[in-house]
Amino acid sequence: MTAIGASGILQSFENLNIWRRNGERAPHKPLLILMALALFQQGVKDIPFREYESRLSELLREFAPQRRTLYPEAPFVRLKNDAIWEVTLGANREHILRENDLTKGQLRNLDATGHFSPDVQTFLQSDPKAITTIARVLLTAHFPESIHSDILDAIGLALDDSTASTNGADIAEVKRRRDPAFREAVLTAYQYRCALCDLDLRIGNITIGLEAAHIKWHQASGPDVVENGIALCCLHHKLFDIGAFTLGDHRRVLVSEKAHGGRSFEEILLRHHGGQLNAPVRTEHHPAGSFAEWHREQVFKGSARPL
Ligand SMILES: [Zn+2]
Repeated sequence: MTAIGASGILQSFENLNIWRRNGERAPHKPLLILMALALFQQGVKDIPFREYESRLSELLREFAPQRRTLYPEAPFVRLKNDAIWEVTLGANREHILRENDLTKGQLRNLDATGHFSPDVQTFLQSDPKAITTIARVLLTAHFPESIHSDILDAIGLALDDSTASTNGADIAEVKRRRDPAFREAVLTAYQYRCALCDLDLRIGNITIGLEAAHIKWHQASGPDVVENGIALCCLHHKLFDIGAFTLGDHRRVLVSEKAHGGRSFEEILLRHHGGQLNAPVRTEHHPAGSFAEWHREQVFKGSARPL
């Protein structure tokens, strides 16, 4: 594998052809690739649709926007158009799939099996860091950092962060530059307190565990402006990014009916349901309705509990 070949392959992963409309999230291909990387790491190179359909559906249920119907067949078939994936048909994988619109039933009946293209397989085998590099590129481009570890745990993918990746430059490139003033502006607006639970822990003069959360994700081109931010403690930030709660009108806190747990869940989250998020000091810094609406539609898990 030449250096150009490797960077070309990385580029294909960075520039996945993803259907976008009105800021709608479509993390289907990234989730399929992450699952395939985990399997490759475990020595599984061929992924029969019939066998992995339910696993992919489970990942979509957890980490893709809530939809009535899941379409695990879409990324499985369409990823082949990104030149990093192939799908074969037949028990002996004798036919290469060319069509784009096969149904779940057809994929099952035709024994569809997916695998990384030969170039990608060579790359994964030649560079022990390749899996980690590609996974980081995908996570950074499609999901907020607060939930990266949850996605990796769900997928069973272990990343090797022991030494700097040889492709570190590529990862740095994919990270859109963030406005360093965003964090400070958001924390100042909310007086350095979690807008949900009031946490304002300090050690000496250092604020601990308080973060500036984007309402409309950075990965969905949410801007670094205070109206798109909320100061949240790290736990509430994670719960917000995973969609356990969202914002209704007038900073109303809405907890998902899919989130549940015992006494600590009540204490940490449920007691805030129907309440109001702390207001920022200035009126013009209140969360903008359009960003909250994006969060409700693209991140929030299902319906809110009754008020
Ligand atoms: Zn909090």
